Amino acid sequence: MKRKWGTLVAFCVLGLIAAGCQTNPVTGEREFNVFSVEQQEQIGAEYAKEVEKELGESIKDSRLQNYLDSVGQKIAAVSHTPSEGFVYKAIKDESVNAFALPGGYIYVTTGMLAQLKTEAQLAAIFGHETAHVTLRHSAVGMSRELLISTGLSILVPESQSISYAVGIVRDLEGMSYSRGHERQADEIGLDYLVKAGYTPDGMVETMEILNSQPGGRIFEFLSTHPNPENRIEDIQERIYNKGYTKYKSSGRVGQGEYQSNVSSRLGQ
Ligand SMILES: [Zn+2]
Repeated sequence: MKRKWGTLVAFCVLGLIAAGCQTNPVTGEREFNVFSVEQQEQIGAEYAKEVEKELGESIKDSRLQNYLDSVGQKIAAVSHTPSEGFVYKAIKDESVNAFALPGGYIYVTTGMLAQLKTEAQLAAIFGHETAHVTLRHSAVGMSRELLISTGLSILVPESQSISYAVGIVRDLEGMSYSRGHERQADEIGLDYLVKAGYTPDGMVETMEILNSQPGGRIFEFLSTHPNPENRIEDIQERIYNKGYTKYKSSGRVGQGEYQSNVSSRLGQ
């Protein structure tokens, strides 16, 4: 009798996992993700409020913000989920950081903007972060955390459960990515960068700039990857393998545009 129950429970758990599976829009693979696109948007919107309240306020410079968003929208337009409603914003914070919230809220700090020199480098950051969203890295990570912390007692199908879910995965740092996720975001982000008409060098240069930063600061780009040199090698290899080399000279760089719309407005 006991065994029968065990089988039944196992069956139910499997059923629940299957019910919570979705097809990844980038890889086409089925994976455990209990959050619909709408729920990811809701979670992102809640986090966005907290980010702007606690991490750093949104910069009140509409020319700079519009410029950032226009660059981001070029990336979003060639992504796997162009209709998702991506938002690209700068927040006032000295740390060198960029990150994506579920639902397509993508933030870059003034500390990061101060390090960059061209629009292609900015687009590379947005490409990487946009890829984290389209690859559903946060949504899958949160689903896993929910699975662990609730023992599958809920599947978060109702909107009232969203704040509960956010409570469980409240800590932004808790949403850190695996090394595999970083590599995947680099690869897909590079594809977006090139498809949007930029030079693939933007991605390599961005990595070099970030590598030269003093350690110890928390920034999404390097926090989960212990071998940044390998990361650059991987990107160089993909540029070659995908035939992106020809776009190195023909792709957009946008140095003057970045200077007038970002650097000079940050007082540089
Ligand atoms: Zn990343």
